[in-house]
Amino acid sequence: MQYVSTRGQTPPMSFQDAVVTGLAPDGGLLLPAEIPDVRDRLDAWRDLGFVDLAVELLPLFVDDIDRDDLETLIRDAYATFDADDVVPLVAVGDVEVLELFHGPTLAFKDVALQLLGRLFDYVLSRRGEHLNILAATSGDTGSAAIAGVRGLDAVDIFVMYPDGRVSALQELQMTTVTDANVHCLAVDGSFDDCQTLMKTLFADLDFKGRFHLGAVNSVNWARVLAQIVYYAYASLKRGGEAPVTFCVPTGNFGNVFAGYLAKRMGFPIARLVLATNENDILSKFFATGEYQRGEVRFTVTPAMDIQVASNFERYLYYLMNGDSARLRAFMQDFATTGRAVLDAAPGTDDFFATAVDVEDTLATIRRLYDAYGYVADPHTAVGIAAAERFPTDGPVICLATAHPAKFPESVDKAVGSAVARHPRLEGLRGLESRRTEIPATLDAVKDFIAAHARVR
Ligand SMILES: *Cc1c(COP(=O)(O)O)cnc(C)c1O
Repeated sequence: MQYVSTRGQTPPMSFQDAVVTGLAPDGGLLLPAEIPDVRDRLDAWRDLGFVDLAVELLPLFVDDIDRDDLETLIRDAYATFDADDVVPLVAVGDVEVLELFHGPTLAFKDVALQLLGRLFDYVLSRRGEHLNILAATSGDTGSAAIAGVRGLDAVDIFVMYPDGRVSALQELQMTTVTDANVHCLAVDGSFDDCQTLMKTLFADLDFKGRFHLGAVNSVNWARVLAQIVYYAYASLKRGGEAPVTFCVPTGNFGNVFAGYLAKRMGFPIARLVLATNENDILSKFFATGEYQRGEVRFTVTPAMDIQVASNFERYLYYLMNGDSARLRAFMQDFATTGRAVLDAAPGTDDFFATAVDVEDTLATIRRLYDAYGYVADPHTAVGIAAAERFPTDGPVICLATAHPAKFPESVDKAVGSAVARHPRLEGLRGLESRRTEIPATLDAVKDFIAAHARVR
């Protein structure tokens, strides 16, 4: 399988190159040259467990890693999860919840990042290369990325986060990992400052090349690929009679985009309910065809406090039937004016989209607890609240993207008592931790990387 850029100005590349490259050199995102059709395999796959299904599915997209080696990477990645069949389905009233948060850092990002870390190690060690990963995080990505690459020889990771603006537990999940290849940078600034610093460094091709900088955010194709598996798995388990509707809390459009691909591959999926918080640029787009940036609003679902979803370009590429010139013009409009428009709204064959406000999110947490004794994290609650707004025939599966204990302030407040706890998080308090405080300047980050990066 070859990978092509949405912008159409990068030569096709192999899977291994796609993993190491992250963002394509022409500024686009990488996609498989074709989407495999699996309809004649569904019966054979229906009874497979999560890991066995991953072992069957991933080779359709990965033809440059030995099948047995890939299987080992997959089995090792999901051995770090501590739940039945990795991603358990739990009945909660009229819907089922697919719990994706049983990995090391208790967020769904582990599903992709446990595998991505192992892929980096595999590809880089064979090539005798070393990568310095640069990440900016407002919370969950940093710890999941660190958990994926800690202790690896072929990778160093530099995570920037806004000092004082991630939760105490989220910070401890990063800073208590004291492996030599992990560098936590507490930046004296906002998350936007961290992201701007990261983008500026990636755009500095001289610096990027000199220090072999890599990315772990969801522009990396391997993250999307790993996420396809749980849509495949849950739709096969529940979609025997009628196709499944998935409800997905959305920030960067990475998670829900994997569901879109699973649908296009032929898994029994009716629609994807795309749920945003009050940062509703995507739900407005699906209603009107207009894509317009606004001011970021801060909510109880910080992982979704995003205006511009980095993976959305992948979906636009398919919506425009692979017309890269048209896509480039659209993205150019958006970059220069903060607004771009399609001729018509995209229709509802694939997506229903809606925005859920903070009040509704907290009320949903409360209601789920009162009615079913289920404790949902705020992001998960956004998806469940959205599920009720649309007509559905078949089974409805809501994706749970974080363990509630990652967001105890909001969850405890909504429920009215201290219900959001997890022993692994409590155990972090008092552990040795390590971080470096730096000002929000390019020179400070560059100096730190230059002093600590390993280069091979
Ligand atoms: C990252 C994250 C999301 C958003 O996922 P996207 O792939 O960015 O849409 C939702 N919930 C939680 C808990 C997250 O960490």
